[in-house]
Amino acid sequence: MWEIDRKKCLRCGACVGVCPKLALELKESGINHDEKLCIECGLCKRICPMGAIKVEEGM
Ligand code: SF4
Ligand code: SF4
Repeated sequence: MWEIDRKKCLRCGACVGVCPKLALELKESGINHDEKLCIECGLCKRICPMGAIKVEEGM
């Protein structure tokens, strides 16, 4: 399970840079997440300065 709180997101792009699967993309509307690519590793959650991302790891 991967979730983002769009109200907290600053669109800094840090999460996009750490994703090993290139599952994240920064768009004008905010972060775009491709659930088909995501392996729920949690790296994006750990790098986010705003705590905007929630991931249940190892699913
Ligand atoms: S949990 Fe891992 S694979 Fe999924 S979007 Fe975040 S960094 Fe990418
Ligand atoms: S790291 Fe956090 S604040 Fe920055 S773009 Fe990603 S979700 Fe938004």
